[in-house]
Amino acid sequence: MNNIYTAPICEMKAFNNLFIELTAKNCNQRCKHCYIDFPLSKNIKDFISIDTIKEALNDTNNENIECIYLTGAEPMTHPDFNNILRLCLKRCNVCIFTNGSFINEKKARFLKRVEGESCFEIIFKLSIDHYNEVKSDDIRGRGTYRQVLHAIKSLVKYGFNPILSITDYYNEGEEVLRSEFQKVCSKIGFDAKDNNFKINKWHDKNSTQEVNSDFSRESLDCEYGRILTARGIYTCPFLANDHRGRCGSDFKDFARKNSLESSFCMTCIQNKKAMFAIDYNLFKE
Ligand code: SF4
Repeated sequence: MNNIYTAPICEMKAFNNLFIELTAKNCNQRCKHCYIDFPLSKNIKDFISIDTIKEALNDTNNENIECIYLTGAEPMTHPDFNNILRLCLKRCNVCIFTNGSFINEKKARFLKRVEGESCFEIIFKLSIDHYNEVKSDDIRGRGTYRQVLHAIKSLVKYGFNPILSITDYYNEGEEVLRSEFQKVCSKIGFDAKDNNFKINKWHDKNSTQEVNSDFSRESLDCEYGRILTARGIYTCPFLANDHRGRCGSDFKDFARKNSLESSFCMTCIQNKKAMFAIDYNLFKE
């Protein structure tokens, strides 16, 4: 019987990246290309509790976690965001995945102070999807392009070195996007290097592609991390709260193997490099 599809199995190589979904569906934007399915109502208040995060940090004490990623939907909408940030900064570097709409000069100054209280760094991954204002606003919503540029400018002013997280929605290729975004950044006084851009393939939610057993990739997020949500542990941000990515209810006992059975997995494989985690090698001098 060789016509029955069996998904390839993936095993964690190390637990270096802890993703924490602060809110599954609370976001102030509705981007066209987002992999999250949002309800029509804008007011979902599904915030994870700080106690759940404390418990997860305790349970992962023996893991070599190098970076905690605060994700959402939009993590900065969490009412306890500042306390969660401070808590995570006691452990390691913290990367915030944000659309930038809550960051202005005052907030950037405050965040620099919070970073200064810790031995670790705050890293920002700001979502922006097109170098052209009209096209970007078409994807993310009116006014969002200017908002995110203002956030970048504010962060740079206070000494942060943000990463621009770009989804190649129009399939223009990394080279074009990087060079066009470099021009945009230079106009706002940000001398962005290649490692300031994380360009990913767009995941088409209507895709039904399955993973073959003979795939190749550089790395997958599920090989180096797990995501904590209010509902338990999952393989990666793509499969947070999806039964196909379920790894357990807490970090006391969770699965380190998973099968690559969703079309999201195919996007990861086509992307070659991890979609969400930072490649620290790019930042080594
Ligand atoms: S979506 Fe990507 S990171 Fe998540 S389980 Fe599949 S291959 Fe791994």
